[in-house]
Amino acid sequence: MSASRTYLDHNASAPLRPAARDAIVAALDVFGNASSVHGEGRRARAIVDEAREAVAQLVNARPAEVVFTSGATEANVWALSQGWDRIALAGVEHDSVRAPAAQVAASRNLPVVALPVAQDGSVDVASAGHGDGLLVALQMANNETGIIQDVARAGLWATEHGARIHCDAVQAPGRIPIDFPTLGATTLSLSAHKMGGPKGIGALVVSGNTPLAPLLAGGGQEMRRRAGTENVAAIAGFGAAARAALDDLKAAQRVAALRDRLEAEVLRMTPQAVVVGAGARRLPNTSSIAVAGVSAETLVIKFDLMGVAVSAGSACSSGKVGESTVLAAMGLAPDLARGAIRISIGPETTDDDIGALISAWRKIHGGASLAA
Ligand code: PMP
Repeated sequence: MSASRTYLDHNASAPLRPAARDAIVAALDVFGNASSVHGEGRRARAIVDEAREAVAQLVNARPAEVVFTSGATEANVWALSQGWDRIALAGVEHDSVRAPAAQVAASRNLPVVALPVAQDGSVDVASAGHGDGLLVALQMANNETGIIQDVARAGLWATEHGARIHCDAVQAPGRIPIDFPTLGATTLSLSAHKMGGPKGIGALVVSGNTPLAPLLAGGGQEMRRRAGTENVAAIAGFGAAARAALDDLKAAQRVAALRDRLEAEVLRMTPQAVVVGAGARRLPNTSSIAVAGVSAETLVIKFDLMGVAVSAGSACSSGKVGESTVLAAMGLAPDLARGAIRISIGPETTDDDIGALISAWRKIHGGASLAA
């Protein structure tokens, strides 16, 4: 991080990794169409194949199970719009899961089954129902709180009840291991820019030969599952980022120690602060810290002016003043939820970065009014 800025918003987007940049730049000169049979085409195809292998390895899937998409939003929309009879999900899911679920349900005149969320953020899938036409969407980890769901347990439940699971795993890579075969999920979505790859590229991992109607019909790319000439450079960057993310798991303890230090210092300075999901299983890199009676938007601006980038709720909903749907689903009091900021650290975060956050926090909370 540059001396003047401290970036602690990795869950919104992670800095581009040098290895990903190198892979992108090299691939930009590989101009062939990956579907062409000539040498130029085969060079492009080789890059795509290598990246597919790396993304498959990241989640312990087979390369044939990985379909590249324009990002996790597309992957989520695709998985959700498969003519399900019922979709069940909790309020902690990302907008890119909740909105297509609502759209699908409205178009078929069906309700979305709302799954209950416990105070610790865990989702209970037991009330989802049963049957082949039932899809349960369950995220692997929450983007605002870092709270981890027991997807494998839900997978076992789904097998017993004949239901399918779609897992939004966008926030997990590099932070916790992902083992697609043991999750029991039919589909799983990933996004390159959350792991230091470029924006606008992601994947839907599809179990075995599960038939999925294409979201984008057209050419026969991606094993006839997703039409459109492959974005070879972005795919190359995704592959490099996936390889690096797998390596990051070794640093998860160091990241968790930084997170623990920042939470301990913040609670020492402001004992009334609440660490959301403190007792729950959480990603090692994410802190959602709420202070009643303050405005998170104001806090974010104050931190920014002091050179520290954090966020209020998810980046996708920033600019939207109001309560986070995630925190509301967990039953957090509105006054507390309005004062919640998210601090999300990354593999390159240093002790000094945490020091900068702590010192900014001290100045802000010792200084002018933060009232909402
Ligand atoms: N799911 C989660 C949990 C996310 O955090 C995000 C990004 N904010 C997405 C899905 C959407 O990913 P993308 O930006 O690749 O569309």
